[in-house]
Amino acid sequence: MKAVRYFGHKEVRVVNDLEKPVPKGDEVLLKIGGAGVCHSDLHIIDGGIAGDAVFTLGHENAGWVEAVGETVKGYKKGDAVLVYGPWGCGHCKPCQQSKENYCDHQSELGYGGGLGLNGGMAEYMLVPSSRLLVPIYDLDPVVAAPLTDAALTPYSAIKRSLTKLMPDEYVVVIGVGGLGHVAIQILREISGSEIIACDVTEDKLEFAKELGAAHTVNSKDSDAAEQILKIIGIKKAKVVLDFVGATSTIELGTKVVGMDGDLTIVGLGGGYYQYGSMNGLPFGVTMTNPYWGSRTELMEVIGLARQGKIHIEIEKFDLEQANEVYDKMRQGKIKGRAVLIP
Ligand SMILES: [Zn+2]
Ligand SMILES: [Zn+2]
Repeated sequence: MKAVRYFGHKEVRVVNDLEKPVPKGDEVLLKIGGAGVCHSDLHIIDGGIAGDAVFTLGHENAGWVEAVGETVKGYKKGDAVLVYGPWGCGHCKPCQQSKENYCDHQSELGYGGGLGLNGGMAEYMLVPSSRLLVPIYDLDPVVAAPLTDAALTPYSAIKRSLTKLMPDEYVVVIGVGGLGHVAIQILREISGSEIIACDVTEDKLEFAKELGAAHTVNSKDSDAAEQILKIIGIKKAKVVLDFVGATSTIELGTKVVGMDGDLTIVGLGGGYYQYGSMNGLPFGVTMTNPYWGSRTELMEVIGLARQGKIHIEIEKFDLEQANEVYDKMRQGKIKGRAVLIP
């Protein structure tokens, strides 16, 4: 079968000669409908975070059940499913609470399919346990694939701050890319807060307005923080969601977050922040770096998508175009999410 493989040393090639896996035990073989292309892939390819492991890329996967191992119950050939991305041990307390993204054994297990283990940029994908599948019912797997990361990650980040996202508060979204553009829609649907979106490109700011941002600020402007504070007034933002995570965006977040607010850094931009107890960060601020989301939150995300409340802007490409898509991504030329279709 065909697959997009990472070979270490920044090398990605589409191969033709992989054997179609046969599921055993609780394993499930999926016929892939779509595999989302995520910025994290570039951290693997260009940044080398998965070392020299050789594996099939793709951690945003959806498709149809093709075959099941002998102990799998509840799934049959043809069922449309999403693959939950962070694969935990399935037994520890966080895993039992469905939060496999915070599995106690993550340091031993790695991060899951497409992030060190075989992922879904292929004709077929072997999922190690039926536990990791979530039914999508009438949703199209091609459109649904990115939900498993590009929607789940912002959903989980927003949900942890939901009690602060009241209608008289402001939330600042930094970065209107693959995750940020979904975050704006989720905020619009599940919170009452007024949304201020920041990005460095004008057409993304325009896009943010169409999706529900009440205000936009170009974060390239040297007075971006002042512009945001002028909109909000003296109390500052209750929640800041940074989908970039660069030093400059983290700094912007620290300038606009208010007392007892949340500064949530989702993007893996490699930025840093030097904490000082008297360096101007308002009292009571919670700074956090959430990772992905839980399995039950993915079910909730699917609920939002099935009701038509969130929509991921996708661009479709053939599996063979993987390298072309990564190049476009490096140049910031993908609007929304690219999905590879085998
Ligand atoms: Zn991702
Ligand atoms: Zn676990």
